Amino acid sequence: MIIQERRGVFAPLLKKKARPIRPPYALSLEFFDQVCFTCKDKACSTVCEETIIFIDEDGLPKLDFKESGCTFCKECAKACIHGVLDSSKEDFIDAKVTISSAKCLAWNGTMCFTCKDSCEANAIEFFGVYRPVIKDNCTACGFCKSPCPVDAIEIKGVKGV
Ligand code: SF4
Ligand code: SF4
Ligand code: SF4
Repeated sequence: MIIQERRGVFAPLLKKKARPIRPPYALSLEFFDQVCFTCKDKACSTVCEETIIFIDEDGLPKLDFKESGCTFCKECAKACIHGVLDSSKEDFIDAKVTISSAKCLAWNGTMCFTCKDSCEANAIEFFGVYRPVIKDNCTACGFCKSPCPVDAIEIKGVKGV
């Protein structure tokens, strides 16, 4: 009874955890939960030259694009000897990339093409001069995130296969 009352008091304060962005080349996203926490070497994170793979509090690898992005070099997949990553899979990160129209300079009337200039895949299209949107060919590599002067690029993990 006491526990229920406490839960009732604190429930509105509990925030839903954002889904982490996992490394590319996963055979199944479920393998991260099932295998990585027992992995001793965490080799995927140590070989990544872009240093975007970090180990989270559960012992699982997750990507952070604050400083850089994924070049799809496949080194993480080659280093994983535990069957979680497979370098023969496509160059793709299971994440959703969006541009916040509230934060974006262009959407608010200031000319800015910084994100487009940093996207090698040419996956950012401008409708007119002021309306950038992410196209379907986005690989979620993350290279557009850090150059944005107002942090308008949002990249969130999604549930995949
Ligand atoms: S090396 Fe493989 S098993 Fe180990 S943490 Fe990285 S993805 Fe998981
Ligand atoms: S493919 Fe290369 S750059 Fe991308 S996460 Fe793996 S090791 Fe890092
Ligand atoms: S995350 Fe998508 S839009 Fe951004 S640079 Fe990579 S491919 Fe381009």
